[in-house]
Amino acid sequence: MDLKQTKSLLEERLVMLTTRAEEAESTLREGHSADFEEYATEAEGDEVLESLEGSAVAEISQINAALARIEDGSYGECVTCGEEVGEKRMEAVPHTPQCISCASKHS
Ligand SMILES: [Zn+2]
Repeated sequence: MDLKQTKSLLEERLVMLTTRAEEAESTLREGHSADFEEYATEAEGDEVLESLEGSAVAEISQINAALARIEDGSYGECVTCGEEVGEKRMEAVPHTPQCISCASKHS
């Protein structure tokens, strides 16, 4: 696995997610604008934005943790059992902290 490439991939994704989270947050902070006449629709929009922001924030912290593991050399090992996460899984989800068997136990 090319760690340099993985690292730049993660960093790009981090920038993208940070932007997305900030946009969602500023839209939320603008609050209940006069543009929205239907409060129900607006409330639903808020929920969508909040969950969007929440999932972006969760992924941001996972990516930061993955970048830290690249730095300390433990990237690619499952944080729970210490086994290899596996190249296919790392390619699919580069920021994943766990191997497929540990990850499926939690879900
Ligand atoms: Zn594991």
